Amino acid sequence: AEVLKLEQIRKSYNVGTAVETEVLHGIDLAMQSGDFLALMGPSGSGKSTLLNIIGLLDRPTSGLLAIDGVDTATLGDAALTQLRGQTIGFIFQYHYLISAFTACENVMMPMLVDKGHPDAEMRARAEQLLDRVGLSRWRDNNATNMSGGQQQRVAIARALAMDPDLVLADEPTGNLDTKSADAVFELMRQINRERGTTFLIVTHNDDLAKRCDRIVTVVDGRVA
Ligand code: ADP
Ligand code: ADP
Repeated sequence: AEVLKLEQIRKSYNVGTAVETEVLHGIDLAMQSGDFLALMGPSGSGKSTLLNIIGLLDRPTSGLLAIDGVDTATLGDAALTQLRGQTIGFIFQYHYLISAFTACENVMMPMLVDKGHPDAEMRARAEQLLDRVGLSRWRDNNATNMSGGQQQRVAIARALAMDPDLVLADEPTGNLDTKSADAVFELMRQINRERGTTFLIVTHNDDLAKRCDRIVTVVDGRVA
């Protein structure tokens, strides 16, 4: 099934002002269920802008964006937030774990935000996911007492909490040493193969990109 479809996506900042600037000039991109894609391109080329649009954090100025066959332009802000919570998982370069929470509580966050999940169910799910990323023993540890690679594995578990169709990872290994980066990448790859979860990974790392199914490069707001 088609998880993601972009047709002629354009994005301008400061619309209607004297400094209006178009930064995405008609992006076409489709991803099928189970795809594992690297998004590359120089700094300032529009990757973050594109990721924010695909992640339903920002709306395009024009063009079609469909997630799981749903045309997102037809959705209001509340419906968009709901769709985001239920279908998209996020992993960032700086994991953004909540430092006052344990690893387990961090993984529970997306379920807490979604509301209505019983506490025992959220805890059981979080523990299962921490087990999957090899961090069972760390579940009650404060997230900030863990290494960078471990924290990023918690972030992967958190991204999977709502069983998303699509995981968006913005330079997930950018802040890690080579060995940890490799482990984090391989973990995402395994989860992709096991669960069929679709991954879109922004990376500057050529070696990791070559190990993806497909590389899409954005240059100056266009797919190169
Ligand atoms: P953002 O997504 O925050 O707009 P980038 O993803 O382009 O910015 O870059 C994030 C960081 O990675 C920046 O500090 C940038 O200097 C650095 N960076 C950009 N290109 C490369 C590269 N080819 N190799 C390593 N680091 C890079
Ligand atoms: P990348 O992630 O590839 O580094 P970005 O999407 O961050 O690229 O940036 C693409 C272009 O959009 C850059 O020229 C950047 O300066 C511009 N840009 C990003 N965010 C804004 C904003 N909020 N307002 C105006 N221009 C922006």
